Amino acid sequence: MSRGAAGHTVGVRIDLHAHSSVSDGTERPAAVVDAAVAAGLDVVALTDHDTTAGWDEALAAAEGRPIRVIPGAELSTAATDASGRPRSVHLLAYLFDPDTPALVAEQTRLREERRRRLRRMVRLMADDGLPVDEESVFGGLDADAPAGRPHLARALVRAGVVRSVDEAFASYLRDGGPYHLRRADTPLVDAVRMITAAGGVTVLAHPLAGRRGPAVPDSTIAELAAIGLSGVEVDHPEHDRAARSRLRFLAAELGLVATGGSDYHGTNKTIALGAESTERDAFEELLSRVPRPLPLPSAGGTGGRTGTTGTSG
Ligand code: AMP
Ligand code: FE
Ligand code: FE
Ligand code: ZN
Repeated sequence: MSRGAAGHTVGVRIDLHAHSSVSDGTERPAAVVDAAVAAGLDVVALTDHDTTAGWDEALAAAEGRPIRVIPGAELSTAATDASGRPRSVHLLAYLFDPDTPALVAEQTRLREERRRRLRRMVRLMADDGLPVDEESVFGGLDADAPAGRPHLARALVRAGVVRSVDEAFASYLRDGGPYHLRRADTPLVDAVRMITAAGGVTVLAHPLAGRRGPAVPDSTIAELAAIGLSGVEVDHPEHDRAARSRLRFLAAELGLVATGGSDYHGTNKTIALGAESTERDAFEELLSRVPRPLPLPSAGGTGGRTGTTGTSG
């Protein structure tokens, strides 16, 4: 298999961004770990969207094998772009305690809010005569699963309204389209604070990915760095060379760790696990910023260290 455009895969190989079927990847967490071993990775982070439900399975799968799993998540947060428009921003979070009461409460609020919002979207469509109802969208969905547009998209496919999920996202469900309602996500600043308080570290995910311009202005990244953001994702499949060099420079300027990850989604995307990677020194620096290492079953490799070191010199 092709390994993509990673420029620095000598020695230890570390991929800090991967999804499983617990969110929108296609493989079980254990299978993601298998794939990481097969790809010759030394470290893989499981960063499912807005859930830690895959942690136990992934950590168990890594036991006794030459791979270290970093439990994480990719949080959907609310921010504003350079023009002050609301913008959904992804925040990678690692090694936090998911049982922290403030985090649990926020996840519960988000889950309920997402269901309410999806029900409203279903009603808007049904009122316009489209053949969808709550049963066709929510039926078969786990009680605690984060409900979203993908579920509505699949219902539209089943009802024969569109031929594919992609078509649904390009038409009825498109951002700003007639049936798209915004999610009420955790404000980005609050998410950074919450994860730090829960003993974890945060990395701003793919800030220059996609065609919509920078996720947030540099000034916001500087503010986040000041309140505890640890890193910025530099090497990502959707970052071109110019984006990477710009972000690497910004990271150095702000004392942020420059990370890399494939954003693996199984067969939902074409990027291979390990196609992008984090340099070993950057990984060690990130671990050194974990305020309170979790008591996790160790699968060998580098242990998390206590204490913050401040910015690197
Ligand atoms: P929501 O969170 O409900 O606004 O829906 C956004 C989710 O839909 C994101 O997690 C995306 O990964 C997913 N998504 C966006 N576009 C597509 C697409 N074309 N096919 C499948 N999933 C998509
Ligand atoms: Fe995704
Ligand atoms: Fe993302
Ligand atoms: Zn991702």
